[in-house]
Amino acid sequence: MLRTAMIAAALLASPALAAPDKALLAAARAEAPRVTETLEKLVNIETGAGDAEGLAAAATYLEGRLAALGATTQLIQPLPGTVGDVLVARMAGTGRGNLLLIGHRDTVYQRGALARSPFRVEGPRAYGPGIADDKGGLAVILHALALLAPRDFKTLTIAINPDEETGSKGTGAIITELARGKDAVLSFEPTGMPETLLRGTSGTNTVLVTITGKAAHAGIVPEQGINALVEAAEVIRKTKDLDLGPGKRRFNWTVISQERPVRNIIPDTVVLSGDLRTASPAETDDFRADISARLAVPTLAGALVKVEVRVNRPAFTATPASNRLIERARAIYADLGATIGVEERWGGGTDAGYASLSGVPVIESLGLPGHGYHTGGAEYVLLDAVPRRLYLTAELIRQLGR
Ligand SMILES: [Zn+2]
Repeated sequence: MLRTAMIAAALLASPALAAPDKALLAAARAEAPRVTETLEKLVNIETGAGDAEGLAAAATYLEGRLAALGATTQLIQPLPGTVGDVLVARMAGTGRGNLLLIGHRDTVYQRGALARSPFRVEGPRAYGPGIADDKGGLAVILHALALLAPRDFKTLTIAINPDEETGSKGTGAIITELARGKDAVLSFEPTGMPETLLRGTSGTNTVLVTITGKAAHAGIVPEQGINALVEAAEVIRKTKDLDLGPGKRRFNWTVISQERPVRNIIPDTVVLSGDLRTASPAETDDFRADISARLAVPTLAGALVKVEVRVNRPAFTATPASNRLIERARAIYADLGATIGVEERWGGGTDAGYASLSGVPVIESLGLPGHGYHTGGAEYVLLDAVPRRLYLTAELIRQLGR
């Protein structure tokens, strides 16, 4: 997940203060050095998206760690085309809450990035490819689980996606299914500095318009043809104002393709592709209805225009129940004397979108505060935030799970 500084963090009024749980805080502090060791181990297994060997090695390592915490583990095969399995771990307790924790083990860095930027600690920062996004999130999950007792939850399900960075096409439905029936989903994407929680992520969609005309010799009988390229130009003209601008629905045509591009033939098939970003499934539906209405009647007689809007990754929009999770998290931070902000919506997408399709409340950005995601050599996490991040997750699980 990439976070830009464009979105200002909104700091809301602080909730009422209570004393932190001293024993939990002491345990979180004692656990923190082991988080650094885990970060080193995770960073040292390169797991670029599509790296079958690395993703499998990381799954084996994480399976061992989760089994040592008392979980049973399972590898779920995603849809064809996805490299790596979804690692699912389950823990049973004696409490009441059923929670799903999600993170991902793939990174945007291909093999070799580690040699250029090895794991290292410099002052309060630990550096390495993918250390914030999302190896820090996985480390928080592992070490927060170590702070819990059986009475803190009824069931915990942990899902570690091998393919988040390329859009979770083959794994998203698994995450939605795992979320169904749970009381809450905790998502461990990294946070920024200052630390914030997200009230929304963007949905990503592909818009495909297929224009079918009729081929004819361009020099001898062009009038017998129906020019799909000319109709495509009309489609662009009729839809260019569907982009609503910064902070709103974004829609832009990005690719035009022809099946048989030949200069002396009137083209009979053209496909236009566009990139659509939306804030909710309803907004995607509205867009679909809008563009379909505008293109219902082709400009050229005899042309056929087919519109398709494919949802790649659904948006996450905090529901009232999700907002209550955010307020809970902010209250836990306030007990520690710390503050955590709230971002309204971020331009990228995360698996929170798939989780939220279940209707279960989701809280996003419980990983480590970091910087430089998706940039190469400069990705780091803030180690001095580790105790409060562990405390936050463990206390959140206790409040929801007991
Ligand atoms: Zn991520």
